[in-house]
Amino acid sequence: MTTTVTQHTPAPRPGADSTEAVSSDAVSTPAAKATTERHNLLGMSREQMEAFFLSIGEKKFRAAQLMKWIHQEGSDDFAAMTNLSKPLREKLARVAEIRGPAVIYEGTSSDGTRKWVLEVEDGSYVETVLIPAENGKRRTLCVSSQVGCSLDCSFCSTGKQGFQRNLTAAEIIGQVWVAQRSVGPRRDTANRPVTNVVMMGMGEPLLNFDNVVPAMKLMLDDNGYGLSKRRVTLSTSGVVPMIDKLGDEMDVSLAISLHASTDELRNTLVPINRKYNIRALLDACHRYLAKCPDNRQVTIEYTLIKDINDQQEHAEQLAALLKELPCKINLIPFNPFPNSGYEKPSRNQVMRFQQWLYDLNYNATVRTTRGEDIDAACGQLVGRVKDRTKRSERYIQSVQLDAD
Ligand code: SAH
Ligand code: SF4
Repeated sequence: MTTTVTQHTPAPRPGADSTEAVSSDAVSTPAAKATTERHNLLGMSREQMEAFFLSIGEKKFRAAQLMKWIHQEGSDDFAAMTNLSKPLREKLARVAEIRGPAVIYEGTSSDGTRKWVLEVEDGSYVETVLIPAENGKRRTLCVSSQVGCSLDCSFCSTGKQGFQRNLTAAEIIGQVWVAQRSVGPRRDTANRPVTNVVMMGMGEPLLNFDNVVPAMKLMLDDNGYGLSKRRVTLSTSGVVPMIDKLGDEMDVSLAISLHASTDELRNTLVPINRKYNIRALLDACHRYLAKCPDNRQVTIEYTLIKDINDQQEHAEQLAALLKELPCKINLIPFNPFPNSGYEKPSRNQVMRFQQWLYDLNYNATVRTTRGEDIDAACGQLVGRVKDRTKRSERYIQSVQLDAD
């Protein structure tokens, strides 16, 4: 097996018991050293950063300079910011900091998929995955928005973990920052370490609107990651009022986790459907597209689950439902996890479903599973650390076994 794994050496906090759970003693990057009294600049939008500079008696154009250092150079060290005067650098070091999440696991799969498990402020874990495609021309980062998720979709391992908390804007953009620092800083637009972002990691991004929107604005900002709005995608299970609110704020690409062709079935798979049914959801998609100034499509995500939603009648119902909506369909073969109660459809069945849609004039794509050898699918590794290992020694051992 060609998996490579980088285990960052845990540095126990003073007084920490070496047998403590990973979640409380594994701090491994300088970025993780918490100091509560200083302002963390990492998650600040341009406006917030400008306000911060004014509040410390500095000119607001400093915000653009700092943003470039943080998000384009991946810097967390004021001393290295050579276009700032020495007194300003010293002042910043006293009042501010650039603190990202701690990397406790970093792995590269044999197919090139990279994955980071990050420890955030309260010792929780989140994961972020970088998926290369098109001979490395596209590198898509899958970003988490919450620790766990409250929506409890019946086929989702993140949902099964329950909801712990919203991530802050710094913790959300911190995932892009960590990935970019690890792959290499952005020196030119043609060679970006991260070319696309999908909000498809753990959590429901529209239930953490106030942190997700500023983080996505940093992804788009020219002094931030400079990604085009078409290359930043928010995936939602269908929080209808927040789709409208998102459309009022920005016009990133929208993906909808539909997964079912009738309300009866969707009620059992995606419980939020009981509050906002399929019709209400598709109407919200129309309203969202109407607010986009360009010609845009919604991505319809459809997880294929054996004998549940993978039959010809489902394909026919799906095509009928979507006939008015400018959209593309992405089929995701169900990713099994322990005790899910569901099974993955056969490859042939996935191809049959794709063909039925094709016959109905839908050229659906099938999402190939990537990074299987490092558990890179939604929620998997975090689930494994929490459920099976608990303690750092056993965690490290399991990572090493996987790498053999
Ligand atoms: N909460 C958001 C985004 C995160 S999940 C949402 O639900 O859209 C990203 C995608 O993975 C969603 O389409 C989700 O339904 C799907 N997904 C979750 N668990 C899965 C599994 N076990 N197998 C296949 N797809 C899954
Ligand atoms: Fe939450 Fe999305 Fe998983 Fe549903 S599929 S439980 S909304 S993360």
